[in-house]
Formats: sequence, structure tokens, C-alpha cells
Amino acid sequence: MDQLRFDGRVAVVTGAGGGLGKAYALLLASRGAKVVVNDLGGARDGVGKSNFADAVVKEIKDKGGIAVADYNNVVEGEKIIKTALDNFGRIDILINNAGILRDRSFTKMSDQDWDLIHLVHLKGAFKTTHAAWEHFRKQKYGRVIMTSSNAGIFGNFGQANYSAAKMGLVGLTNTLAIEGAKYNIKVNTIVPTAASRLTEDILPPEMFEAMKPELIAPVVAYMCHESFPDTGEVIDSTLGHATRMYYVRGPGVVLKKKPSDPVTIESVKEYWPQAMDMKNAVHLDKMAEVTVDLVERIQDFEERS
Ligand code: NAD
Repeated sequence: MDQLRFDGRVAVVTGAGGGLGKAYALLLASRGAKVVVNDLGGARDGVGKSNFADAVVKEIKDKGGIAVADYNNVVEGEKIIKTALDNFGRIDILINNAGILRDRSFTKMSDQDWDLIHLVHLKGAFKTTHAAWEHFRKQKYGRVIMTSSNAGIFGNFGQANYSAAKMGLVGLTNTLAIEGAKYNIKVNTIVPTAASRLTEDILPPEMFEAMKPELIAPVVAYMCHESFPDTGEVIDSTLGHATRMYYVRGPGVVLKKKPSDPVTIESVKEYWPQAMDMKNAVHLDKMAEVTVDLVERIQDFEERS
């Protein structure tokens, strides 16, 4: 297969001073993309700032690539996109990767723990993507990656704030994929599991050693390539493995015996096991399919009444 390249493309990778973002930035630059290495440079909980994006830019340049550092907070995403435009004149690829943790059990979670997580993950992705969007629309080309987490999809003790924000990014992906479709803007979500400072005290040492961000970077890079076919997808990746994730809906059940019967709390209880049965579950791919399904249910309801 011909090498997949990014010559002429400009990529912004947020939170690229370390961890996964650094691996994405290095790989894209090695394949010809001009890269904005954004990183606020704060601690794991979002406190403070520093210039550790510089080391990544140096590494890219030392290898013959093109990159510029940007130290803005993703909450001011328009400034990051401006860095791309000022330095490289365009923006083609945006990887919303910046992230922090403020883990607390829900009882102890403060407004600040909640707000800061939502600001960085959700509002940061909104602001940065929003600033890039008009350029994507005008040039009829754009590739956007959101970064979710298994903690959001499945829940995780002590991460109510993070889980909520990470699932918010899946919702954002779903709608932006629809709004971007006619402009050739593809928006997808990655669900990574990798060794980084966010996971160093969570993953056992032998797993930490194996779970290199470099094993996820090719998946994300392909999802940013002009030949990538899909949009609105959630892709789980770790250890050189990738898989699609989506919600399915079970066939469900009518919550009463006869058409003339009322639906009562008791009838709901009676039919609950069938409502929960996921045998013959289906994946409704698009809102249009959900609407068709709803119309069918209305017809069925009218026939039964
Ligand atoms: P990391 O801490 O190495 O990288 C995150 C980077 O984001 C840091 O360099 C940090 O300085 C930067 N950052 C934080 N707040 C910022 C802000 N406001 N503006 C700009 N930059 C900011 O951690 P990582 O594991 O590489 O995480 C990358 C992304 O992947 C995060 O969104 C994280 O939630 C997500 N994620 C990681 C894992 C994993 O297993 N490592 C699992 C699920 C999700």
C-alpha cells in the first residue's frame, strides 16, 4: 500500500506536550503535516502552566518536520486556530486531545472539580472546533477527532465529572458529523487506553509499560486522513487494536396485554424483563432511522388502540 501522507495539511493537536497528543503530533509531522503543538503545560489537575510543547516541537524539527508551539488554554480555542492560520495559512485537521483529571467520589466533588473538567474537555473541544469550523466549511474539508474515555462510556468510581464530560464529547461528535457531512467535514471520537501521566497510578506497571501511545497514534492518524471513509464513529483503541463502539436498542415490548388495557406502573413491572431483553437488538445508525422507527411505533400503537 502507498504510504498515507499529510503533505499540505495543517493539523492542530491540543494537549500535545506529552502522552497521546505528543505521539499524534510526531506521527502526523513525520508524514508531512505542519503541526501546531498546543499545550497549556499545567499539572494533571489543570493547575499551572509551562512551555513543555517546546520539547515536542524541537523533536519534530530535529527529525526534519514542521511544527510550531502554542501555549493557549483550549478554553480559548480560537487563539489556537489563529496560531495555525498565522503560521501555516490554513487548518485541515483538529485533534481535541487536551485533558485533565479531578477525580473525587461524588460526595466530595466540588463545583470547581465539576466546572474545570467540563471547561477543559467539553467547552475546550467546542471552542477549538467552533473556531476551525468556518474554515472547514469554506474549504469543504475538515477532519476532527474528539477524545472520549471508557470511564465515560461505562462509568468509573470517582470520575462523575470526567465521565459526564467525556460522554458529552460523544454527543458533540454525533451532531457535528451530521452538520459537517455536506462539507466533507468528518468528525469521529477516539476512546484510547494508554500509558501517560493520567494513567501512571491507575494501570499496573507491566500494563503501563506495554500500552504505548504510539500504538494508538496510527489509528488516530488514519481517522484524520483524507481517505478515511467514516464519520460520527466512536473507535476504541489500545495496544495496536481498534474496534467500533455503538449503542444498540432492544426490540422492547408493549407494556399491556390488550389494546384496551391501560399502561400502569404494575404492567410496566410485569413486562420489564422483556423491555430489558437485548436479544435481537439493532443499531440505529442515524436519526432518520430513529424517526422511521418512531413512525412505525406510532402506526403499531394506533393499530393496537
Ligand atoms: P496527558 O496528561 O499526558 O496529556 C494531556 C495534555 O493536555 C497534557 O500535556 C496537558 O498539559 C494538556 N492540557 C491540559 N489542560 C489543557 C488545556 N486547558 N489547554 C491545553 N492543554 C491542556 O494525558 P493523556 O493520557 O495523553 O490524555 C490525552 C487525552 O486522552 C485526554 O483527553 C484524556 O482524558 C484522554 N484519555 C486518555 C486515556 C489514557 O489511557 N491515557 C484514557 C481515556 C481518555
